[in-house]
Amino acid sequence: MLRVCAAHRVAVVPFGGGTSVVGGLAPVRGGLAGVIALDVARMNLLLGVDAESQIATCEPGLRGPALEAALAIHGFTLGHLPQSWEYATVGGFAATRSSGQASAGYGRFDSVVVGVRIATPAGSWELGHAPASAAGPDLRQLVLGSEGAFGVITQVRLRVRPVPEKKIHEGWRLADFTGATALLRAMAQRDLLPTVMRLSDEVETAAGLATARPGSDAGTGGCLLITGYEGRAGWVDARRAEVAGLLRAAGAVALGEDAGAQWAHGRFDGPYLRDALLDVGMFAETLETAGFWSALSGLHTGVRDALTAALAAEGTPGLVMGHISHVYPTGASLYFTVVCGQVDDSVARWRRVKAAASRVITEAGATITHHHAVGTDHRPWLAAEIGDIGVAVLRAVKNTLDPVGILNPGVLLP
Ligand SMILES: Cc1cc2nc3c(=O)[nH]c(=O)nc-3n(C[C@H](O)[C@H](O)[C@H](O)COP(=O)(O)OP(=O)(O)OC[C@H]3O[C@@H](n4cnc5c(N)ncnc54)[C@H](O)[C@@H]3O)c2cc1C
Repeated sequence: MLRVCAAHRVAVVPFGGGTSVVGGLAPVRGGLAGVIALDVARMNLLLGVDAESQIATCEPGLRGPALEAALAIHGFTLGHLPQSWEYATVGGFAATRSSGQASAGYGRFDSVVVGVRIATPAGSWELGHAPASAAGPDLRQLVLGSEGAFGVITQVRLRVRPVPEKKIHEGWRLADFTGATALLRAMAQRDLLPTVMRLSDEVETAAGLATARPGSDAGTGGCLLITGYEGRAGWVDARRAEVAGLLRAAGAVALGEDAGAQWAHGRFDGPYLRDALLDVGMFAETLETAGFWSALSGLHTGVRDALTAALAAEGTPGLVMGHISHVYPTGASLYFTVVCGQVDDSVARWRRVKAAASRVITEAGATITHHHAVGTDHRPWLAAEIGDIGVAVLRAVKNTLDPVGILNPGVLLP
């Protein structure tokens, strides 16, 4: 099919769950004769589970809930729960290097991909033949994050784990974001992470968004930290006790399992608020980045201040909330939610406001995207991050796999 499209110069946009938030599905014709969306929704099977190796083989159109339900029958879980989990697909997760809410325990999506198969105009390509390999560079990484521009992901093999014996979420209140961030770093660097770790800054905590439930304890000052533990009962109990000791010693106040349960209950609800906000004349958008620990505090204040100033300059001051939800030994992600009044062209206004934040991110040497991918929105910022040689390497790969340039012409490549 891709060869036919190449012969007739028809652009192809692979479509998974349609949850891209960076313009990854923009129907760009790119000077070709036409453009079609290639929806993989009907390729939605769990093809098999190698229980001995703990590897699941999936079709790309499998959505989060269907994947977990199918794995549970075999006693396994993937544990990949982005906020878009209800709709997003395995192929989309792979194509965007997605990261889920339990990334501290289960890892980013790209870290659990054992193997991948893609269809390209140049032919089918299958990668990942051993648990580890020294056979040259890891070419799976050219497929992960390729956003439909190099090929259509038709199969993904994933590392799965036994369904956890025990799951617990709990809440903590910490005095301030800077001190709490240092605590997260200590946990990550001591290899003491829970499975879920989410720290809201003072504004997000005060806005009560952290638990997405009115009347929660989150609104009473400081910063809300949600920790979650999933795994063998012994591990959950031991890790929880060790983390709790560290938190208490740092002056954190325990909010208990209720606060954790409230967060877990509402964990996919936040985005639905956007419709209600639009109905009352409000606008909501998000952006994300990641940086090393040594630069994280400055990155947080820099992006927050840039968003705040840009909104004020537009004549629409707004609320800028932030949180950390993906933590590594060397750094962490930062996620910002902006709420402000609507204007005649709110999309154009957001582009200007986001550009101000993107400049700060780029100048700080942080990444333009930790997990949302490049799409069309971040394309202008990619070269600054990967360099001219990086862009040339991506172009060379594209030219090899898709010489006519039919695959998702609008995304990824500057
Ligand atoms: C409310 C909301 C919350 C979100 N929360 C998170 C979050 O917590 N973590 C996170 O990582 N992301 C999040 N996202 C972003 C988005 O869900 C992810 O990027 C997700 O991985 C996209 O999956 P999808 O199946 O919807 O892909 P789509 O949106 O359909 O496609 C995304 C990109 O991948 C390409 N693509 C899709 N399928 C294939 C395939 N089979 N082969 C080749 N290319 C393909 C598309 O062409 C497109 O460029 C959120 C989005 C929304 C709307």
